[in-house]
This record gives sequence, C-alpha cells and structure tokens, in this order.
Amino acid sequence: MPFDYVAFFRSQLIHYADQGNNVKRGEVNVRCPFCGVEDRSQHLGVNLHSGFWACWRNAEHKGKRPHRLIRALTGWDEKRIDEVINDPLWAGSRNESLDDMRQRLEASSLGLLDKPKARTSLFAPEISYPKGTRDLTGCLNYSSAQSVLQYLQVRGYRPSIWPEVCKLYQLAYALDGDMMGRLIVPAYCGGKLRGYQGRAISKHAENRYLTRPFGRDGKCLLYNYDNAWASGGKWLILVEGPLDMMKLDYHGRRHGIRATCGAGVNMIDEQMTMVLRLSKKFDQTGVLYDPAASQAALGIVSRLALVNAHFIPHPEDSEDPGAMTERQVTAFCSRLLATPFS
Ligand SMILES: [Zn+2]
Repeated sequence: MPFDYVAFFRSQLIHYADQGNNVKRGEVNVRCPFCGVEDRSQHLGVNLHSGFWACWRNAEHKGKRPHRLIRALTGWDEKRIDEVINDPLWAGSRNESLDDMRQRLEASSLGLLDKPKARTSLFAPEISYPKGTRDLTGCLNYSSAQSVLQYLQVRGYRPSIWPEVCKLYQLAYALDGDMMGRLIVPAYCGGKLRGYQGRAISKHAENRYLTRPFGRDGKCLLYNYDNAWASGGKWLILVEGPLDMMKLDYHGRRHGIRATCGAGVNMIDEQMTMVLRLSKKFDQTGVLYDPAASQAALGIVSRLALVNAHFIPHPEDSEDPGAMTERQVTAFCSRLLATPFS
C-alpha cells in the first residue's frame, strides 16, 4: 500500500490541492519544498496510487519513495521517517474527518502531532538555537564566519555595514547541524526568540530555506517584529521573506519605512493578528510581494482591510525586494512617500 500522503499532509498542516490547474486526476499537489519560495503555487504532484511524486518546475525534483520528500517537508531524520512510513496508523485514513485523524494520531506513540497547548501569548513558544549556533555580531573576525559574511556582501551588504546589519537583525550562523552553511535570520517577538530561517549560502543546496520550528509554531511569529514595534513609523511593509525584509527595512528605516514578514506568502490568522497589531504603530500598512505573487498579496491586503492596507506594486527595476540595491530601495521609498494613498 502506498504511503498515505493525504493523511500525512493533513496531520502536518501542509497545504495541498486536490483540484486546480496543475493537479492531475488521482494526484494531489503541494508547494515543492525543493523549489522553496520559487514555487509560488503548488507544483509538486503526488500520485496517490503509485506514490510517485514529481515537480512540474524542475525534473530533478521527483522520486518513487516518500523518504526524500518527507525529509524536505519536515526535516525529520531517517529513523523518524521510517517509523512514520511503516506505521499502520497511516493506512486508510484518507476519508476520516480531520478531528478523528488527529485524535487517532495523537493517541499513537509517535507523537506526530504536537499536543495542543494552552497558549498564553500570541506568539509561538520561546525556543533556543541548537548547540553550535553563534551570533554573527562578535564573530565578525572569526574565520568560521567569513563565508556567511561573504554571502551578505553578495546580497548587497558591504563590509562597512556588516556590524550594523548583524546587530540590528541579530543574524547568526551555525558551526554544525543542518543550519551549517546558512545565514540564520531569527524572529524575535516580545523579546524572545520564536523561530528562525536559515538561507543557504551555496547555490547547490537542496533546500534554499530551512525554517524552524516545524509546523504551526514556526508560523506564529513575524520577522523584525520587535524592531518595527519599537520604532513605529510612516509605513509598515509586509514582504515575502527575511531577506526581502532586511533589504527594505535596513535602507527604509531612515525614511520611516519598516518591513516585516513571515516565511513565504502564506500567512496564518495568528500572523495576520500580529500584523494588525503592529500596524497600529504606523501611519500606513502595505503589502509588497514579488510580481508572481500578486494574487497572494491581494488576498493579504483584503485580510488586512481593518487597517486599510495597500497593495504596493513591485518596482519594475528589480526581481524581488531582497535583490534591490540601496539606491533602488531609496528610490522606492521616495516614490512611496510621494504617492497619495487614501
Ligand atoms: Zn521543484
């Protein structure tokens, strides 16, 4: 019997489509975890009968067995993946109600689902970094930090501003573990670390972005929340990811423009609540997603109707906010401030 992908996606709150443009009969689609943010919809199809999976965007993203896909979606180790795949609990759960399935899986010894905890805060629980993770500030002269710093330079941050950028966003890097070779951008909300994203510095990395923690907790946060909260200003701009946030926020600050983001275009209700709360510190709120995600941006704008959020068209002279130069960000900010918004 093939692995029950539908039950797996549902239990892990992985959004899947069972109908739509790219969805073949007998298949469901998810956002391709190997393409990462480049897959702006759900281009990875899984055949529910054969169990084979393949990405429409990149022919190398395919497989016959679930292991590699599950690993990319969850970050689980091989032992846990084997346990999940071989657990008979997964069989025949496709037609169950979500509640029934949750109860059944919660009763299993595998602990596949986080037990629902009473949450006293809007944010995800505080976490700490794995061992071997270091703040870049204080390590700027260490040889172990140089490749990550070089990556900052590639992304348009010159060495003279490294100390400020690293301190402002509390950037980190890892000496071992799955975050090694990545620029780590943390999400501090309410003074505590709630999650982080590691951006691969190598072009050849299988996953460009790794986000922790997994699951829903990894989404109950906003990047740059505390900085934006502390300063307030003229514009709060919601962007797609931490690298976009940093570029716009760093050069936009002096214009009263600050940026925040989750990890990717899909935002859960808790994040919307955080954006609404943060918006109160700003005169205006806008959503600036990459051109290919304008549909998603419009959806977010409508969910932020309470604060009269604006759809911000993407500047034509760059492919995404993270790729903008300082001059482009400055020009963008001047245009934004000069545009009358009702
Ligand atoms: Zn792909």
